[in-house]
Amino acid sequence: MRNLMTSGAIALAVLAGSCSSGPDAPTAATGAPVHEAGAAAVDQARLIHADSEPGSWLAVGRTYSEQRFSPLKQINDKTVKGLGLAWYADMDTERGQESTPVIVDGVMYLTTAWSLVKAYDARTGAKLWEYDPAVDKAKGADACCDVVNRGVAAWHGKIYLAALDGRLIALDGKTGKEVWSTQTVPPGGHHTITGVPRIANGKVFIGNAGAEYDVRGYVSAYDAETGKQVWKWYTVPGDPSKPYENKAMEMAAKTWKGDRYWKLGGGATAWDGFLYDPATNLVYFGTGNGLAWAQELRSPGGGDNLFVSSIVALNADTGEYVWHYQETPGDEWDYDNTNPLMTADLPYPGGVRHVLMQASKNGFFYIMDAKTGKLVSAAKYAPATNWADHVDMTTGRPVINPTARYSSLGKPTLIAPAALGMHNWHPMAMSPVTGYVYIPVQVSAAAYAMKDDFKPNPEGTNTGTDFAGGQALCKAPGAQCGNIESYILAWDPVKEKEVWRVKNDVYGSSGILATAGNLIFSGNHKGEFAAYDATTGKRLWSADTQARVVAGASTYMLERQQYVAILVGARGLPDTAKRTNPLSANNSRVLVYRIGATETLPDTMTKLPPGAARIKIDPPLLTASNETVFAGEQAYAANCAMCHGPAVVPGAGSIAPDLRYSGLLPIRNGWDPTVRNGDRSTRGMPAFGDKLSKETTDAILAYVIKRANDEKAAQQAAASGSGH
Ligand code: CA
Repeated sequence: MRNLMTSGAIALAVLAGSCSSGPDAPTAATGAPVHEAGAAAVDQARLIHADSEPGSWLAVGRTYSEQRFSPLKQINDKTVKGLGLAWYADMDTERGQESTPVIVDGVMYLTTAWSLVKAYDARTGAKLWEYDPAVDKAKGADACCDVVNRGVAAWHGKIYLAALDGRLIALDGKTGKEVWSTQTVPPGGHHTITGVPRIANGKVFIGNAGAEYDVRGYVSAYDAETGKQVWKWYTVPGDPSKPYENKAMEMAAKTWKGDRYWKLGGGATAWDGFLYDPATNLVYFGTGNGLAWAQELRSPGGGDNLFVSSIVALNADTGEYVWHYQETPGDEWDYDNTNPLMTADLPYPGGVRHVLMQASKNGFFYIMDAKTGKLVSAAKYAPATNWADHVDMTTGRPVINPTARYSSLGKPTLIAPAALGMHNWHPMAMSPVTGYVYIPVQVSAAAYAMKDDFKPNPEGTNTGTDFAGGQALCKAPGAQCGNIESYILAWDPVKEKEVWRVKNDVYGSSGILATAGNLIFSGNHKGEFAAYDATTGKRLWSADTQARVVAGASTYMLERQQYVAILVGARGLPDTAKRTNPLSANNSRVLVYRIGATETLPDTMTKLPPGAARIKIDPPLLTASNETVFAGEQAYAANCAMCHGPAVVPGAGSIAPDLRYSGLLPIRNGWDPTVRNGDRSTRGMPAFGDKLSKETTDAILAYVIKRANDEKAAQQAAASGSGH
């Protein structure tokens, strides 16, 4: 198979030669489509030889190696200053937009929040078709971290989508009509899917999410033509009174204690990073946290708890276990190992090695031999990481900070990173020209404490942690908790060291694209899309996006013009942005740039849909007692803060509206039916049902009214202060 890879490089050289032989030679290298537009004519050979048609972006990671590197260089460190907006398209969803546009033969395919798919003419932006899987909006309650989707796969005429509710769906590439749909998760459970299907050997590989709830993780493969399941592989062992599904589960069961884990589900869901490697014919994926997070609550007495927080390699054809490497043995800090994976041929002094790489949530950059899984290196890419001091290269195990194990020690601990990790799902990129990997780093720390009175909750999350329990640690002199800083890091994987970093003005991560034009492209949470010198990190160009950016970009060439495309929109508007998209409160759009283009984004929203305008803060007077407000504060923190923000102030991690501005505050009998009965479930507000009493929702309302009055008073004070 390695020879096949080499012949791909030769094909590239030959094509490049034929391109220069005649200005009108219609080759893939010039960006002329090689197949009929919309035919989604992607096959294994085309993906393996993707470098021979740099004008395309055939899969979310562009190639099977998923380096998110483009050989295109019309847009480069010299010309990028002339980059302008070529076209844009308004999205009709809000929430987080996380997908990377895929471009096949002149057609751009992307997904939006709520698992919608859209196809555009990649040159003009004309919409060709759209598909809405009509996900039940109540399903949003099972999505720990927003109702997002990270993109599609193209294969043999079809476009593949995994919807939030667990359906794997094949669409006709030309029309967007559904060809088949398979439910891949148990109905009625808490599994969701936000990840991207990967396809090879005629099989579609997909995982799922839900390890904060009560699920048992697994990955599966489906026949790309029929949607029939080919194999399924669980990531954690199940009920020990039943036969093990395979030898790997028998091995894994020895690393667990007690019987709580399988009753809770065990977790370890593979919700993002997936990669197929034609050189090894293995499919790799990362697994998430165990259930509960606090290890004493799932495996009292410890144990590694396989295959929690691990990288696993399976035979792509049979789903048989081949190797694993557990990055965080016995994880209890939510250090999912689900971050994006990439393969590379790294030039070590002793020779080239074919490796698999990941910048883990846990702060270490792992390099493994792609064939055997043997650890090649594990270096701390985020220096603030303190849950482990280093990885012992003889054992391959982390040397864990003695105070880190809060559940077995029975003592809260202050640990970096916090649960969102030093890096999360946001795509990293690698340039084989510079040799660097570009990582969106987000530095955080948190106080972890075990919930002493933990009882499994069949309706909600079961992390078993008490986020208020260790707050005293955060108040100690010199201690830092929460989100600290974020930056783009250029990392030399061979030398295991930082080359440069560019700090973000506003905290938050965005995906990265690298190109042969000595550029990297990345958005940010200030509301910009920018290009940086890939060698030095110098900022060379930026554009106002009017939206926060979390997704990764892609680039393609059509009619000898190189384009860069980025989907924007997430988590409210940037501080300085106004709403200009009448269809999306966070200005979700796809923005497409090329040299010399002069399109502009609107500076006002001309037509407001009913009730869509940002309203003035105007809460009713607070009439509730202090006791009620206090009870409401506790209930809010436990049930509402995760989506609406702590203390009713949405932050960079909040996905739902600012309740201080809610039109429901003054409406008698408007609040409780929304919270408990799901009156706004079609807009993504789940029904809490009997989980909360009327008394509790009234108390939450009183607390929100208090917080709204606090804000109103602060705004009035600021306004009067500014008059002097
Ligand atoms: Ca997790």
